[in-house]
Amino acid sequence: MTMPQPSNGARLLIDQLGPVLEQMPDPSGGPVAADLERELAAAFGVPYAVAVSSGTAALHAALSACGVGPGDEVLVPALTVVMTVAPLAALGARPVFVDSDPATLDLDYADAARKLTPRARAIMPVHLWGRMGDPQALAVFAAEHGLAVIEDSAQAVGTTREGQWAGTVGTVGCFSMKDGKILWSGEGGFLLTDRREVAEYAAAFRSHWLPAPAGQAPLSRLATNSRLAAPLAAIALANLHRISHLVQLRQAQTRHLLTAVAHIPGLTAVDPAVGEQWNGFAPLLHIDLPTPRGFAEHLARQGVPNSTGSFRLVPCDTRGLFPSADRPCRGAAQIMDHTLAVVLTEHDTDTTLERYAAVIAREAAAWAP
Ligand SMILES: *Cc1c(COP(=O)(O)O)cnc(C)c1O
Repeated sequence: MTMPQPSNGARLLIDQLGPVLEQMPDPSGGPVAADLERELAAAFGVPYAVAVSSGTAALHAALSACGVGPGDEVLVPALTVVMTVAPLAALGARPVFVDSDPATLDLDYADAARKLTPRARAIMPVHLWGRMGDPQALAVFAAEHGLAVIEDSAQAVGTTREGQWAGTVGTVGCFSMKDGKILWSGEGGFLLTDRREVAEYAAAFRSHWLPAPAGQAPLSRLATNSRLAAPLAAIALANLHRISHLVQLRQAQTRHLLTAVAHIPGLTAVDPAVGEQWNGFAPLLHIDLPTPRGFAEHLARQGVPNSTGSFRLVPCDTRGLFPSADRPCRGAAQIMDHTLAVVLTEHDTDTTLERYAAVIAREAAAWAP
């Protein structure tokens, strides 16, 4: 197999950063964030992109733009990180945790329907590990119940299903560009939408209502500063110019690791859905060994970084932060306990991946908790 090699992206970045740095300090922020927005919108084929300082900020602006506020309920999968939930709590809304289907990793819409109340205003599908749910099922459910759809696509840049990009299915799609995401700028984020009023609201929200949406006075509302700084926008733009390389590299790394561990008893690759072109964000293996979570934690200690083992990822509804009134999300717990999601970056070479595979094989064979 010929594999795209990790390239030295640093050279490219230095070339693009030079002119931006020379223009600083520029109190207007300079033109680079707007260039990034134009190119993001073109790359995803949507009318509007709004660049912000983080994925969390993108979710915050998107939720607020969709009218989510105090007392509202937002359906959110328990199968996610706290960063999905924090912005809705900051707006005074309440998360209603929905289960996921272990067979598909997608939202369990029967559970979502059971948990709907008249206060539900929005649903936030999370494309964890780059895996995208069924866009049709999402659209039908949201339309039937009059919900805004805010996609947490932080990990899903480059995934498509039935030809639709993750992050372009709902009312708004939110992305993170934190290091570790496929399209990175150190810190940063952006949102995509086809609604002009949502884009204008988000652009006002990230910059203290200046500029204000059409027909409103500047500074006429209190908002936030979550602008994307020019040097980070320049890094994002340089990486956007090599986005197909970055996505293909991650896909090749993931294929390489999954092929190298294909023979190991007790571990089975989790395949993408029919019609899904998965970005390969993290090689996913179903762990069928005793105390599977313990195995993931053990692998992290042995130098194989992974979601549950290294970052203690647990279903959000089981975190002490949230009152646990809703019925527990057993599917989400089952998925998290039984999934090994290996953490990759663009620096990981064949040698690194083969070392991970060797450690996984050795430790699985010896696993006797
Ligand atoms: C990274 C991430 C976020 C938060 O993005 P930041 O840029 O770190 O604020 C939100 N949701 C998911 C699923 C993520 O992976």
